[in-house]
Amino acid sequence: MPHDHHDHDPLEEGAALRVRALEELMIAKGLVDPAALDAIVEYYERETGPRNGAAVVARAWTDPDYRAWLLRDGSAAIADMGFSGFQGEHIRVLENTGTVHNVVTCTLCSCYPWPVLGLPPTWYKSAAYRARVVREPRAVLAEFGLVLPADTDVRVWDSTAEIRYLVLPIRPEGTDVDALAAMVTRNGMIGTAAL
Ligand code: FE
Repeated sequence: MPHDHHDHDPLEEGAALRVRALEELMIAKGLVDPAALDAIVEYYERETGPRNGAAVVARAWTDPDYRAWLLRDGSAAIADMGFSGFQGEHIRVLENTGTVHNVVTCTLCSCYPWPVLGLPPTWYKSAAYRARVVREPRAVLAEFGLVLPADTDVRVWDSTAEIRYLVLPIRPEGTDVDALAAMVTRNGMIGTAAL
């Protein structure tokens, strides 16, 4: 069962209220069209999302040249799949191996590779995840149900104003690209799940 890090995070609730207050103020003052706002939110909820990232991962698993390109220049290889734009200008792809496991956070706020993963889940933005995953990554990963061997090198990557990260999980058995893509989850590409 996925662990919920922040049932009642007061900071988060305060931020949500502020966003709502701002939105209503801007609509009331005629500064923003609610339909336009809905369209933007809908785009990031439906058009981009973890399916994009999963397609990238599955291609990398089945095409060695693409994989090499993706690890060398994430943004360009991802743009080749048609996924680019805001928050995706500089994406670095991190390869999980039998000895290295990567997990991504943004300790300052909630930077996230939108073109490949869509909008970040609430837990990713929570103060608890951001602080704890750096301090005690193994404990946090265990709460997500991911228990790594003691000799696995766990690397925590802190997003910056410029760079976003995407984790390339270890390829499971299988050869069909569509079937492989269906196995990849959002958490697998953040690093809080194996796949
Ligand atoms: Fe951030």
